[in-house]
Amino acid sequence: MKGKIIKGIGGFYYVAAENKIYSCKAKGTFRNENKKPLIGDDVVISVIDEGKLEGNVEEILPRRNQMIRPALANIDMILVVQACAKPSPQLYLLDRYLVSIEPLDLPVGIIFNKCDLSSEPYAEMYEKVGYKSFSTSVKTGEGIDELRSFIRGKSIAFAGPSGVGKSSITNVLWPEAQMETGVISRKIERGKHTTRHSEFFSIGDDTYICDTPGFTSVMFEGVPADQLRLYMPDMALYEGKCRFNGCLHLAEPDCAVKSAVKTGCIAQSRYESYKKIYDEIYIQERRY
Ligand code: GDP
Ligand code: ZN
Repeated sequence: MKGKIIKGIGGFYYVAAENKIYSCKAKGTFRNENKKPLIGDDVVISVIDEGKLEGNVEEILPRRNQMIRPALANIDMILVVQACAKPSPQLYLLDRYLVSIEPLDLPVGIIFNKCDLSSEPYAEMYEKVGYKSFSTSVKTGEGIDELRSFIRGKSIAFAGPSGVGKSSITNVLWPEAQMETGVISRKIERGKHTTRHSEFFSIGDDTYICDTPGFTSVMFEGVPADQLRLYMPDMALYEGKCRFNGCLHLAEPDCAVKSAVKTGCIAQSRYESYKKIYDEIYIQERRY
């Protein structure tokens, strides 16, 4: 039977299949190929004991994609969650995170939660940058339906600092009926365990949410300083429009990007992030 690995702890893989969760050991021939199942893997399992919900993972189906940190397979989209206030958004950290994901070819979106606490148009700003962005409030319900219908049928990884509302959003997206009768009938509880594992929660309709632990440390592998501008969609838009070919938008004269910052077409904070990240990568590159 086919299923999806939603959790792995202590050598056991928990596989959601046909509205049940089987605890499985990895037994399949994939082990000879040195393959290790990942959270998010679509797998074929054989049932050993239907009563005890025990089985074996026999086969790992081809992956659509895979992430290393955290180790996850078959993600349809990463949604970075920030709060509009309390804590106020960390746009520089957000921009770093967005740049680091860009080379992975994984769709990224942004949720600005707690929009009941601030009317700053953050979501609009990042829509303009080129990212699917949501303005939500778990408190008033604003934007929740839109988010729910957007993620239907997808496997989503939530990323972002703690306290911004990731578990509140997951819980509110969980359909009521599902909580009574469904696959996993418990609310997410955070902060009880010191070591956290990645885990997918089925919220029904073939939709899965994974709350990835922490705002993972950012690496700019595959992003050379002199290419950074191409990994920031709002700047990449101006490629070829500056006086100099390959303009880095730093000290060069007649720079279309710097003009766009002056007229407000590119947000000042995005340009500041660009310069800071550029310096960081540049120094890293000189070190080796
Ligand atoms: P997480 O650490 O990202 O999972 O954040 P939580 O879901 O635990 O939320 C942190 C705090 O923010 C809790 O006290 C929530 O009640 C509160 N919170 C979550 N969403 C909202 C929201 O949309 N508006 C307001 N005002 N508070 C929220
Ligand atoms: Zn330029």
